[in-house]
Amino acid sequence: MSRVYTFGPVKSRRLGLSLGVDILPKEKYCTFNCVYCEIGCTDPNQLVSPEYKIHAPPSTAFRKELKDILKYSPNLNSITFGYNGEPTLNENILDFLKIVYQIRDELKWNIKPKISILTNSSTLYLKEIRDKVSQFEYIIAKLDAAAEKDFKITNRPHKNVPKINEIINSIMKLKDEMPNQNKLSIQILLYQSYIKDRNSNINNENLYQLGCAIKKIRPDFVQLYSIARIPAEPTIYSIDNKKLENISKKLKKIINDNLISINHY
Ligand code: SF4
Repeated sequence: MSRVYTFGPVKSRRLGLSLGVDILPKEKYCTFNCVYCEIGCTDPNQLVSPEYKIHAPPSTAFRKELKDILKYSPNLNSITFGYNGEPTLNENILDFLKIVYQIRDELKWNIKPKISILTNSSTLYLKEIRDKVSQFEYIIAKLDAAAEKDFKITNRPHKNVPKINEIINSIMKLKDEMPNQNKLSIQILLYQSYIKDRNSNINNENLYQLGCAIKKIRPDFVQLYSIARIPAEPTIYSIDNKKLENISKKLKKIINDNLISINHY
């Protein structure tokens, strides 16, 4: 069977056994050009505004491909939209989602995989995008920086991407608007740099601002993790578990809210 839309299942540190669903054209389209991106730098022609729309509805092959894969994947934990850029750029995202819900609901499994989305959060200031994203059972929203300087250095956004404070406010809105049974996780990638005092988001100011942002957003979960594959920029590298643990403790102190579960991977 040739596959166009799905990949895996892969064992994900944060999602368990996850089947990836890629709804963008085969090239990466993104509003960010993150220094750590594991699929390489964003091509300047494909670094797009958050209002850029890709028209790519599911072909009839999507339903068949998904059904065929799921037949052989009875222990899946998640069917996850994302991976090759920012999935909310595809204006047909709900057409895909509808098919995934239909097929998932036809399965006779005792425990059904949750339907998740990885978003970089840059499009969430648009109400129409929040309305679409809210329909996923598990929303994993990126927030690597809450200080503007670190946001620019880490995520290298397209010039039309709002400032980080507006992005934080839009994640707060999403949390208020989404159905209670759906869950929100904030995903923070932390890294260091070989260039002293540059290109690292683990400085005290950024960590403090991140803690304050999470306190305001009140997500269900916070996931801290570091680089596990070759990053887009060779000047950065991962942080070890001990450091992740210390940062996790630091953030817990700032956030001081037992209802928010903070984990590092
Ligand atoms: S948001 Fe995701 S896909 Fe886009 S550049 Fe960053 S890591 Fe890569």
